[in-house]
Amino acid sequence: MLKRNLLRGLALVSLAGVLAGCGASQSTSKATSSSTSAKSTKTQTKRQRLISALPKGVKSTDSDLVVVNKWHKRAEMTFNKSSVDGIEVRSSIVKPLEAFLAGAKKAGYPATIVSGYRSVAYQKEVWDQSIQTYENQGKSAKEALKLTKEYVAVPSGSEHETGLAADIMNTHWYSTHGNQLLSSSDKNKGQQWLINHAADYGFVLRFTKDGKQSTGIDYESWHFRYVGKASAEFMTKHNLTLEQYVSLLQAREKAAK
Ligand SMILES: [Zn+2]
Repeated sequence: MLKRNLLRGLALVSLAGVLAGCGASQSTSKATSSSTSAKSTKTQTKRQRLISALPKGVKSTDSDLVVVNKWHKRAEMTFNKSSVDGIEVRSSIVKPLEAFLAGAKKAGYPATIVSGYRSVAYQKEVWDQSIQTYENQGKSAKEALKLTKEYVAVPSGSEHETGLAADIMNTHWYSTHGNQLLSSSDKNKGQQWLINHAADYGFVLRFTKDGKQSTGIDYESWHFRYVGKASAEFMTKHNLTLEQYVSLLQAREKAAK
């Protein structure tokens, strides 16, 4: 019963759109690179410069850099899990996550982890529950599926399944805004602190304002992803999504062969 209530709560939260990036699938097509030759030459040069500047020793296949999105679905992954403030995450990120939260607190901006690891099975339950909720409201099966796709991450396509992602909100803002995940939280100084200092702890804001084309997810001011310090600093400095960053690493590895 408790589980059902939890699921219902989560489904309602999803309806409000707050789970969107936390894996919702938007109907955005993948970025295409059709441009004039002059522009593509310029883009190529910029790309080459970025490839040359990539941090040393980082590989596209590093476990911290696993990409999960609606184009790259993954079966349930195996890794050790531990809790931070009662929220389960991959054990390997416990220390950096605790340091990140401690840093925020020390700066005067206590933060709350809202969500961490979610299993593929759990995501499937959330998905099914959402469809059921819409159908109970009188929507057709087709409409229920459409609405669910809009707000809930497709099972096997949510980054939360990696255990490397956490939704983190400034505690005060979160509690005074109905415990909702809203992009407007970035107006809050505490949320800004999290966004501006994430890289110091090896995290990036995963779904940036400019990143939607490559991530497939709208801007989310609360969804942080661990990628390691060197990668986080590089990605933040150059405003790269994880998809773009991994593509650069792959290009470097291909060129080295
Ligand atoms: Zn999330």
